[in-house]
Amino acid sequence: MGNVGDKSYKFFLGLLKTYKNNLIAFAVALSIGLSFIVYEEGFAYKITVDGEIVGITKNIDEVKSFIEELHKKERKKTGTDIVLNQEIKFERVRVANKKLTDVHKIYDNLKNAMSFSCKAAAIIVDNKFVTALKNQEEAEKALELLKGKYAKSSKRVYFKEDVKIEEKYIPPKYLTNVEEALKILEQPVKKVVTYTVKENDSLWSIARDHDMYIEDILKLNPGLTENLKPGQVIYLSSAEPHVTVVTERQVGYKEEIPFDTKLAKDESLYTNQSKVLVEGKKGLKEVTAVVISYNGIEVSKKIKSENVLEKPVNKIVAVGSKRLPLTVATGSFSYPLRGTITSRFGQRWGRLHTGVDIAAPQGSPIYVADGGTVIFSGWESGYGYVVKIDHKNGYVTYYGHASKLLVKKGDKVAKGQKIALVGSTGHATGPHLHFEVRKNGVPVNPLTYLNK
Ligand SMILES: [Zn+2]
Repeated sequence: MGNVGDKSYKFFLGLLKTYKNNLIAFAVALSIGLSFIVYEEGFAYKITVDGEIVGITKNIDEVKSFIEELHKKERKKTGTDIVLNQEIKFERVRVANKKLTDVHKIYDNLKNAMSFSCKAAAIIVDNKFVTALKNQEEAEKALELLKGKYAKSSKRVYFKEDVKIEEKYIPPKYLTNVEEALKILEQPVKKVVTYTVKENDSLWSIARDHDMYIEDILKLNPGLTENLKPGQVIYLSSAEPHVTVVTERQVGYKEEIPFDTKLAKDESLYTNQSKVLVEGKKGLKEVTAVVISYNGIEVSKKIKSENVLEKPVNKIVAVGSKRLPLTVATGSFSYPLRGTITSRFGQRWGRLHTGVDIAAPQGSPIYVADGGTVIFSGWESGYGYVVKIDHKNGYVTYYGHASKLLVKKGDKVAKGQKIALVGSTGHATGPHLHFEVRKNGVPVNPLTYLNK
């Protein structure tokens, strides 16, 4: 029977073994189950925006789709690619349930913390951002519209400034449409320009001419005073649009060509004579030019070609080279006598004094004031002994009260020739010369004709 008992023991052992395995399996299962519960209850996600905590939640998928929604909304609003300016991180943390954040609070926090930039086609003028549009096409359209405003019949249209379109990420509020961009591009902006001071400039005149206040000029030029020197360079501000549209327009027109005047020597004429040999005549040319305008205002003109239709005819004038005989008038009068002026031309004792009186000792020489011909030499009431010279240029001169006459009618006299001597004949109270100048028969003030 020992055999049987042995067998039963073995069975028991076997049974025991099975039970033990199950027990282990149960214990393992239990512990896994427990730890699973602990895990589910203790783990959540901490959400940070650029390191700042916005909340802790288990509803990670809801939060993620909320963020995605914000993205979509912004993309729809701007119509461009959108990037988030901040970095959002989800970090698995173990916290107690009471530390979890209400999901709506998380949404609010996210809205406040998140901001977007949108991809835009920025218009850059002279390396400065001016405005931005949704895309390259719109930016180009705005620039083309601006050019088109002034293009008209122009051959070339371009910008004076360096204008570029660059892809940039910008805050969505700076995004503009074509119409707004055009307005901004045309807006005048204050630019600092240099100005070279001209003769007779003053701060006041510069301010007036440049539509500025004197105080603003002084602000731009510390230390500047009213003491401006021509050539000095100062700063001024001027309001100009962001962009200048340059247009080049070809124009054709006819223009007169002036003629030159050529002089030809003629020995048969005196030096004070001349004669027109050929009358000048203006020519005519056809000009092709390029007119350059800034924003429609003409600034310069470049001549491209000129086609002469009619040549000008130069005027030719013969100029005398023969020396004048001294008896021919030079056209200017010299003093007939050195002495003291005792009476001038003008009203005297109720009547016109028709000449000028020059006092000098009796017998002093009287010289003719310019070359001419003696037309009278003799006695005349009031003048006493008097010489009259016709200068053959509209002028006649009188030399009165002489004591002695040295020329006779018909004599040709050279300028400066001695013609009489000082005396006091006629109406005279002492020795003096009455010198008279008559222009076309009318006495004029000799002092305005005499060379000093
Ligand atoms: Zn007199």
